[in-house]
Amino acid sequence: MIVVNNLTKTFRNGQLTTTVLDRIHLRVEKGDIFGIIGFSGAGKSTLIRCLNRLEEPDTGRIEIGGSVITDLNERELRLARRKIGMIFQQFNLLDAKTVYQNVAFPLEVAGHSKAFIRERVREILDLVQLGDKGDMHPSQLSGGQKQRVGIARALANEPDVLLSDEATSALDPQTTYSILELLKDINRQLNLTIVLITHELDVLQHVCRHMAVLESGRIVETGTVDKFFLQP
Ligand code: ADP
Ligand code: ADP
Repeated sequence: MIVVNNLTKTFRNGQLTTTVLDRIHLRVEKGDIFGIIGFSGAGKSTLIRCLNRLEEPDTGRIEIGGSVITDLNERELRLARRKIGMIFQQFNLLDAKTVYQNVAFPLEVAGHSKAFIRERVREILDLVQLGDKGDMHPSQLSGGQKQRVGIARALANEPDVLLSDEATSALDPQTTYSILELLKDINRQLNLTIVLITHELDVLQHVCRHMAVLESGRIVETGTVDKFFLQP
């Protein structure tokens, strides 16, 4: 479902070149919840941003749901990104818009009719248990509620995969738990593939079935979460 081959990413600052991702290979099956764990600076965020080409890889091939992301031109990439939902640590909501408008936004960009959008937003806000919050603004919501809006927006266009960039790192433990439970529910109900990055073992252990450990831009370990936590 997601296949990454030989992905390398370097950043150049004047004379200095830093290799942030070094020959990454990954395979994530459809319907999996796959966790990438590593310390700060390991390259997790760069890796997940390469998947939808928010960062341009230097070398390598990325395939998501049959589409070779690394081969797409700008126009094709814009269309492909509709099928790749993303959620963020700081939620990245539009504060001037209501909850309803935040979730409607990607549907408007995709050119859907007002009637379709109304129906779809209602359905997706119900799914994240915010059916009664459509007219609120993000600033009126708790952190957990904001992330639910983020999840609703990411799911609006029925993506093939959901990418999570430390989505629970700004939340307290109780709220983290409820967001992780929501992600599990969504994975089950929609058979949606989820790739999440985290620096927290608890998060990995709570939701993921498969995982990779990223260290200084290299994958040093990969396998099932059960096996990893059973190791002495
Ligand atoms: P993580 O998400 O695991 O904390 P990141 O992917 O954010 O790691 O960063 C990995 C390394 O890449 C860090 O050393 C960081 O400083 C560097 N880096 C990230 N983005 C840039 C950039 N735009 N320019 C230069 N270096 C960068
Ligand atoms: P406009 O496109 O005129 O700025 P909006 O983006 O606010 O309007 O809303 C688009 C459509 O969705 C309108 O028909 C509006 O009535 C409807 N709408 C807006 N907020 C909600 C909501 N919380 N629940 C259901 N429908 C809504």
